[in-house]
Amino acid sequence: MRFSILDINLKYLNMKINITFLGTASAIPTKTRNHTSILLNYKDENILIDCGEASQRQIRIAKINPCSITRILITHFHGDHVFGLPGLFQTLGLNNYQKKLYIYGPKGIKEFIDNIFKYFITTKKIEYEAIEAHDKFFENKDFELHSIPLDHGCRCQGYIFKEKDKLRINKDKFKKLKIPNTPEITKILKGKSIKINNKIIKPKDLLYKEKGKKISFIFDTRMTESIKKLAKDSDLSIIDSTFLSGSDKGEEKAFEYYHMTSEQAGKIAKQNKVKELILTHFSQRYEHKEKSILDEAKKIFPNTRLAHDFMRIEV
Ligand SMILES: [Zn+2]
Ligand SMILES: [Zn+2]
Repeated sequence: MRFSILDINLKYLNMKINITFLGTASAIPTKTRNHTSILLNYKDENILIDCGEASQRQIRIAKINPCSITRILITHFHGDHVFGLPGLFQTLGLNNYQKKLYIYGPKGIKEFIDNIFKYFITTKKIEYEAIEAHDKFFENKDFELHSIPLDHGCRCQGYIFKEKDKLRINKDKFKKLKIPNTPEITKILKGKSIKINNKIIKPKDLLYKEKGKKISFIFDTRMTESIKKLAKDSDLSIIDSTFLSGSDKGEEKAFEYYHMTSEQAGKIAKQNKVKELILTHFSQRYEHKEKSILDEAKKIFPNTRLAHDFMRIEV
């Protein structure tokens, strides 16, 4: 087997975060937009953020195995974010889901999930744990999950996926040290010194640190201070964009109904040094005005895209 720096960087260091938008509508779905749900894949983890009605069908259409889901993050208990849970749980049971499913959400999540299983799941139950998520609520060697409360007129929280900093091989140092292409190099990535050609090579001789990626999920909410903490320095922010500021008193409506406008989302992205903004959770009233939604945010923050169902991106 041939070992090259490129192979090693790809295999051990360069794991991508993949995001699939499964639903991008707000309270009422349209012909082309299902209720909110997003899947984040990183290494062996498949984290589902919200699970609106019919999300499991979206999962099927996207050719994702529902049994690959490892964790579910619930932002709040409005139907357009949770009506898909009973069906998904039933499918996992029928498909003999073998893992323990971790479900995180605001205060009350345990009672909420227990009741779904009590009233809806009469077939085979799965093993699960429902956990109230506060601040940094999960951490492993690869990433952290954080939650921060939002302002949606009910218990609602946004989420941060934070990849840990990664060690990468410095190609110039690799050449300079005249290291042969050997599987031994992988040990150095685990923090161990190695001996090559009678020379001890320490991790610091060869590696440098690359900053981990930050992705923030900000829905549903109206403009509020805590959004800044979620968005700050995100490589990608996915933000509620239910209304248009410049149309039919959109900003007033956004305040009244506890949502954001695309202009407000653009401001958040700009002020908090976000690298890319993706807007989602669109009202059906703008079904034929999507360009206006995009233009409004782009005027303030050019690196903006609109989410659509089944859109896949790599971060
Ligand atoms: Zn919603
Ligand atoms: Zn809501």
